[in-house]
Amino acid sequence: MIPLEEAQNSILATVPRLPATSVALAEALGLVTVEDLAATEPIPPFANTGVDGYAVRAGDTAGATPDSPVRLRVVDELPAGKAPSVPVGPGEAIRIMTGAPTPEGADAIVMVEDTATEGDRDVVVISKEARPGDHIRPAGGDLAVGDAAFPAGSVLGPAHLGVVNSLGHSAVNVVRRPRVAVMSTGDELVPPGEPLAIGQIRDSNRPMLMALVTQAGCEAVDFGIGVDDEAVITERLEKAASSCDAVVTSGGVSMGDYDVIKIVLSRMADMNWWQIAIRPAKPLAFGMLPGGVPIFGLPGNPVSSHVSFELFARPALLQMMGHSRRFRPVTPVIAAHDMRRRVDGKLHLDRVTLRRDETSGQLTAASAGGQASNVLSAMAASDGLALLPDGEGVAAGEMVDVMRLDLPADHSTTSRRLRRRLLLFRRSHSSLRSGFVG
Ligand code: AMP
Ligand code: MG
Repeated sequence: MIPLEEAQNSILATVPRLPATSVALAEALGLVTVEDLAATEPIPPFANTGVDGYAVRAGDTAGATPDSPVRLRVVDELPAGKAPSVPVGPGEAIRIMTGAPTPEGADAIVMVEDTATEGDRDVVVISKEARPGDHIRPAGGDLAVGDAAFPAGSVLGPAHLGVVNSLGHSAVNVVRRPRVAVMSTGDELVPPGEPLAIGQIRDSNRPMLMALVTQAGCEAVDFGIGVDDEAVITERLEKAASSCDAVVTSGGVSMGDYDVIKIVLSRMADMNWWQIAIRPAKPLAFGMLPGGVPIFGLPGNPVSSHVSFELFARPALLQMMGHSRRFRPVTPVIAAHDMRRRVDGKLHLDRVTLRRDETSGQLTAASAGGQASNVLSAMAASDGLALLPDGEGVAAGEMVDVMRLDLPADHSTTSRRLRRRLLLFRRSHSSLRSGFVG
């Protein structure tokens, strides 16, 4: 048996990053940028009002209170999207809506809440003194020309896409989204709709692994159930290798098996047939198919398949996508009950649910159900994997590390690198700042 980290490191040392390409914003959620993005135009592009109200000369409102208000003549009305046509002169005001450009002459906005109108709305009664700059959002106040929006290596979230669009780009340069082939193997597997004969079971792994692939941000490609026939499996894997960036199979890699997938893979690729010191998911086949396409031969038991994907395939796929944060976070929490185990030289990963204790406010972990590697319902009920190193386990009330399957990425080490890059990036761009404000 080899340690978990040895297998993970070996995989990450082998798997390449995919090339970059330009992707439309609608397709770019979750992808990783390959270049620094800086503002080439000020955002917002012009000084504008942050509230609905009246554009005024602040000096005209001096001393205004509810008891002694100031009256100004309303000379125009400015909805958002309209360019001002007249300036605000002394004793004048322009009715203005949020987002409309600040008209010439005005140096403050009075909120509509601090005003009333008189006559045919051609006089505004102002009950609060304005100071210069009140409620005006300066041009470039969010990002000035040359300001860093975000550096290469950023994972595009919804707000990033909004920022990219506000910078005037309809597409963004990112690492390509991997296409990942998913195939189940085993003669016992029967698709839904067909009756089960003795010895046959349904295929749980394929929909689960396709969803895990999708959840990791990749495109999942269904390669069906590979029946135990050398020619069929060879042809499918060749097609997968030529049309996809990675391949995930389940079944047929355990000790003692002499499944067809083993024979085919041994012939097609330089494979590692690992026994890893973990439970579940001890066996793993990993190698590179022709064309540099990584293949993950996961064990067939559904829980083992899921855990194996989490520990080996997901970090590798995230690396292919250019993510610097490739691992799920690990959080120390309180064991809600004894989590005993036997000494067997392996790291145990027990399926647990997390709950916040109402009195202490602390997170606790409790077993999510049966811990056998075929009990997928407990995997479904779980929030994470309790990491129980070789030994006797932990007692109720003691701390236990839980790998958080409910959270996408670890913030510990790699985000520090990203923060440093962000800092350098900001510095290198600060010289470009024009100081352009409205
Ligand atoms: P294997 O890894 O092929 O030795 O399979 C281990 C166990 O997992 C056996 O009980 C298989 O029937 C089961 N198994 C294999 N593939 C699947 C699958 N796609 N869905 C559900 N169970 C599976
Ligand atoms: Mg099998």
